[in-house]
Amino acid sequence: MDPKQTAPTSSVAPVSARNWTETDEPPTPDLALRMRTVRTVDDLRAALAPARREGARIGLVPTMGALHDGHLSLIARARAECDVVVVSLFVNPAQFDERDDLQRYPRRERGDAQLADGGGADVLFAPSVDEVYPPGFATSVEVLGLGDRLEGAARGAEHFRGVCTVVAKLLGMAMPDVAYFGQKDAQQTIVIRRLVADLNLPVRIQVCPTVRESDGLAMSSRNARLTPQERSRALALPQALQAAASRAAGGERSAASLVDAARGAMLAHGVEPEYVELVDPETLQPCEQLTREALLALAARVGRTRLIDNVVLRPSAAAAPRQTPPRKAIA
Ligand code: AMP
Repeated sequence: MDPKQTAPTSSVAPVSARNWTETDEPPTPDLALRMRTVRTVDDLRAALAPARREGARIGLVPTMGALHDGHLSLIARARAECDVVVVSLFVNPAQFDERDDLQRYPRRERGDAQLADGGGADVLFAPSVDEVYPPGFATSVEVLGLGDRLEGAARGAEHFRGVCTVVAKLLGMAMPDVAYFGQKDAQQTIVIRRLVADLNLPVRIQVCPTVRESDGLAMSSRNARLTPQERSRALALPQALQAAASRAAGGERSAASLVDAARGAMLAHGVEPEYVELVDPETLQPCEQLTREALLALAARVGRTRLIDNVVLRPSAAAAPRQTPPRKAIA
């Protein structure tokens, strides 16, 4: 009897399983590529075994594909620091809270393989959903507290449960020395650092700067879905960050005022923010004053596409408390 027919179905995916297209392209051999594509955990381990035996440094860049220059910057950093670079390509159903978002998520493995190869990856790990969540799969990883804020509050706690579970699995599958993540998903990096520290996972988490288009829009696989009009309204996000950053540079320290600046810039573009918050970059708790480094994070829907962005703000010397009391005016 086929065990798959009797084993209980995995229950990790909030979007019910097997109702999406895993790829819109037939698998093709990667004859022209230097990089090797593997689809199973056994093949991944076999591909990495010689390097691991030699004590080579292995870098992992987890992605959901539709690669752009943001992803390529992570691959370039991994290439510069590691002996072997693994790029994973897996659209993780467990972290999608909306069926529409999952179904419309761009999938173009062939183009991604070429980009990853050109970027210097050695191995592309592109598993199926069944390989990652086989029948009977029943474990989930949750970082309490951090995963409920910002994106977790907007999308539901299952979003970061899905992210943490798949990242913990990818780290277990590839066992990299270093894993590379983008500042673009700031909360994700904070949650993953906590996960790695709490579970004593032997991996260094490297966070790389956000790569932007020339007009400031943060690169994202979801940008491809924007219509030309939405694409120009999406500038609301970087301009909101810019507005808050300029106000902070001018000496403003009140979180309410910095958030107002960002919110105002978004509304001026006709974009209603889902949230705009100034938070502590480790605990993600709201800040009332910008007295030390803080994260201004925001999210908004532009048409049907949900976008996020963030900037790290520091208090400006322009607002430093006076060291000496002001002199009394001479009468
Ligand atoms: P994704 O494929 O969207 O899950 O992203 C995979 C990795 O690429 C994550 O660590 C993201 O934070 C990172 N990433 C996505 N967009 C950018 C960007 N514009 N700049 C830098 N890193 C990014």
